[in-house]
Amino acid sequence: MKIFHIPAFTDNYIWCIQKNNKLAVVDPGDSKELLNLIKDNDLILEDILITHHHFDHTGGLEDLHNLVNGNIFGPKESNKFINKFVSENDEIEVLGNKYKILETPGHTLDHISYYSKDINSVFCGDTLFSGGCGRAFEGTYEQLHNSIQKLNGLPESTLIYAAHEYTIANLEFAYSIHADNAIISHLNKAKKMISDNEITLPTKLSLEKKINLFLLENRPEHTKLLSDLDWFKELRERKDSY
Ligand SMILES: [Zn+2]
Repeated sequence: MKIFHIPAFTDNYIWCIQKNNKLAVVDPGDSKELLNLIKDNDLILEDILITHHHFDHTGGLEDLHNLVNGNIFGPKESNKFINKFVSENDEIEVLGNKYKILETPGHTLDHISYYSKDINSVFCGDTLFSGGCGRAFEGTYEQLHNSIQKLNGLPESTLIYAAHEYTIANLEFAYSIHADNAIISHLNKAKKMISDNEITLPTKLSLEKKINLFLLENRPEHTKLLSDLDWFKELRERKDSY
């Protein structure tokens, strides 16, 4: 089994899971590159996993849904092409591996993440990014904070497949808040990766605990009088206007 990405729009990644000639994809916002990949390599599109309703995560379904051999999984009422609605703690099987559904609302109210212990990975859409997190568009800060803590409770070795390449901008913001060695050293590493045409994802939860301020594991000393939620909220608001 291999996992690779297809870039879409300006900074989206469509994650592809391939086993032999079968393919599963996460959040196909666009279909063009995927259709070429499937055709050129004679692949069978087995399943599609949707994390939330935003168009840059679902836009490809119109062209792809007829090709799907298995299921299009996703949260209820998020998109008309989803045929298997999933919610908290449901377990699904994709290309022979089990995935547990974690409801992670905040960025949107319908947002879910797909965690597979079998492959030590979580596909978390726009909830958690490397060095940052999604905006609270539909949900409250409290919902987003709780969702991020749910992801923070996964095993430290979990690989985090986020849906956007925002790492450099996130770490520049983080360093402006907290001049921490782990943050600046990973920022420099991420800049090198991007200039070498590599991507900064997936990231690992153990690394994020050191560089991602939104997990609240690495907190500037002077913020420790604030409650977790108050500091999270302040951080998110400061990032929104950064
Ligand atoms: Zn989104």
